[in-house]
Amino acid sequence: MILLTCVKRTKSDPRLGRFQNVLRAARNTEYYSPRLAAAHLATTAEVAGLRGIEEGLARLPCVDLSALVERRESFRNRAVPEMAKLGNERPEAAPNRWRRTLGFRVRSVAGRFGALQRLAAGVRSGEVTLARTVRRATVHSRVDLGLLRDAERDALWRDFEVPVFEEVRGFDDELLAWECEAHSGLHVNAECAVTETAGNGGGELVLTSLAGLRYPMLRVLTGLIVRQAEGLCACGEKSARVIFPPSLRKPMAVEHDSFGFSSQGALAR
Ligand SMILES: [Zn+2]
Repeated sequence: MILLTCVKRTKSDPRLGRFQNVLRAARNTEYYSPRLAAAHLATTAEVAGLRGIEEGLARLPCVDLSALVERRESFRNRAVPEMAKLGNERPEAAPNRWRRTLGFRVRSVAGRFGALQRLAAGVRSGEVTLARTVRRATVHSRVDLGLLRDAERDALWRDFEVPVFEEVRGFDDELLAWECEAHSGLHVNAECAVTETAGNGGGELVLTSLAGLRYPMLRVLTGLIVRQAEGLCACGEKSARVIFPPSLRKPMAVEHDSFGFSSQGALAR
């Protein structure tokens, strides 16, 4: 009998490619470097030989968000120039300026909570008038700065009188998760994020970014208790979601300014 061995050529997986980029970036950080070596994910050949994201994650230990917050320099990719350090970057600012110049209607206000809070104060005092075309307010949250609390959402709703949505961004401003019209948890942006929970029924959210290269996030324990949901959302989207049990909506203990960066400006777009 002749046995034939077929070598199946697999299409390259863009998510795996991005994960490998994050691993390469993490090699240049004080924190991850020894851990990647212990996981046999330190050399170029080891990273290139990885067959799947799950395989790589399974070899890596989790890290507490508090470690990242308190020792952020040890999580910085030293290969990235200092000037590119995490800060008040506003990648949408330039396109927004063009939109305004070209006369596009402003549909939403968006920015970090602090910036929107200042804008809301302006609206309350009458110093600022929102365009009539504004239909929504979008809060850009970051896991280290804390997610939007219910009371904060209510306050923005009262001042802006438009629905409030939340987007969770990573340290490179990549979109990790977003809130839909159904307000049913957060949709995970699979292009940029991998989510894990400790238990099948839910548990603490462990977050990995597939796009953060300056401050790589690999298996970060967020302190958020969530349930992962698959299937069709009421908004019509099929992407996976993380849902917060009502009693444990936002248990994050990290203060808004603890990472040492000031809030981004509010953007009109
Ligand atoms: Zn939805």
